[in-house]
Amino acid sequence: MGTNNNLIYLDNNATTPTDPAVLETMLPYFNARFGNAASRTHALGWMAEEAVDQARNQIASLIGAQTKEIVFTSGATESNNLAIKGIAEAYRRKGKHLVTLKTEHNAVLDPCEYLEKRGYEVTYLDVGPDGLVDLDDLRQSIRPDTILVSIMWANNETGVIQPMERIGAICEEAGVLLMSDATQAVGKIPVDPKSAGVHLIAFSAHKMYGPKGVGALYISQRNPRVKVTAQMDGGGHERGMRSGTLNVPGIVGFGKAATIAQRTRAEEAKRLAGLRDQLETGILSRIEQTYVNGSTQHRLPHVTNISFKYMDGEALMMSFNQHIAVSSGSACTSASLDPSHVLLAMGLSGDMAHASLRFSLGRFTRASDIPKVIDQVAKSVDKLRSESPIWEMYKDGVDLDTIEW
Ligand SMILES: *Cc1c(COP(=O)(O)O)cnc(C)c1O
Repeated sequence: MGTNNNLIYLDNNATTPTDPAVLETMLPYFNARFGNAASRTHALGWMAEEAVDQARNQIASLIGAQTKEIVFTSGATESNNLAIKGIAEAYRRKGKHLVTLKTEHNAVLDPCEYLEKRGYEVTYLDVGPDGLVDLDDLRQSIRPDTILVSIMWANNETGVIQPMERIGAICEEAGVLLMSDATQAVGKIPVDPKSAGVHLIAFSAHKMYGPKGVGALYISQRNPRVKVTAQMDGGGHERGMRSGTLNVPGIVGFGKAATIAQRTRAEEAKRLAGLRDQLETGILSRIEQTYVNGSTQHRLPHVTNISFKYMDGEALMMSFNQHIAVSSGSACTSASLDPSHVLLAMGLSGDMAHASLRFSLGRFTRASDIPKVIDQVAKSVDKLRSESPIWEMYKDGVDLDTIEW
């Protein structure tokens, strides 16, 4: 599937390949149907507008929303920025306090930091060792001047799924708006913001087999009608919420991806959970001192995050020699080699966070890939550990946890 035959791609949480059916649906909108969806004066414009309307319907349908509740953006980073900064601006007179999680994606944490520099106050909630938010902590963090709670639906590094309905009930009772970065959840598990009491969700096409560079923000328009101040000014597109000529081919592809997800999600989840469990069990049983990070009960079906104790995840990944694509516990904020803030927030030591790898399966993962991956990982671990003085000390019975390095 678009990759070279020697590379098994298990990095679907970073991005997914565009489904061939999605690509095919997009192609005419680059040439034969190239119109601007805002052109009201000729057929090419109408055609583009119609295609955008249809995609908006398809995406709304996937999440049980009304079409007018979907705003198209360039991706989940922009959607999160628009939601957080847009709410902060629109509700400034109500208060200047926000609540979020320490394990959020940078697309949420960085806009929060931006607001802190401008006089807002943000509470960053801890999570338990399982990666889940403590609901009492959440309840206690909400103040009269809290204008927004932002809690991700599912974590990109661990796959841990937060109890959104219970979080929704707490926010409802406190009368505070709730948004969720649902980028890893939409198209993978049922996501219905209305029934969960979530008022805004951010998501992205390229995490669900659509193209890169297009995303959406769901904004509740009824019970409650949420106000968001636009962060991009221009032609007043997207009902004034996000100006700029619409990415018609991207949006068409996003719509098609939503339709496919709606049709195949349940079955795909079952298949991938089976393969993921096989991979996880294979690694845990064949390789000693391996630990799964985060709840295995409340978790996306296609993700496992594993620490290989006394090892460096980065080095382990390199030793796969381009046969397996995964990501390490330090690579997510690209370029930085700091240990993952997500794993640290779950209470892992820096060493254990550095020792982690994330395996994220996807639609194009084959059953035959799994034994190959287990073999490659086991071989690499054996080799690296056989050359490692730390591993030798561990095998000699030295209690490494008590050593001051
Ligand atoms: C990938 C991702 C984002 C960023 O999405 P883009 O569309 O690439 O901007 C935000 N949040 C989460 C949880 C993600 O996994």
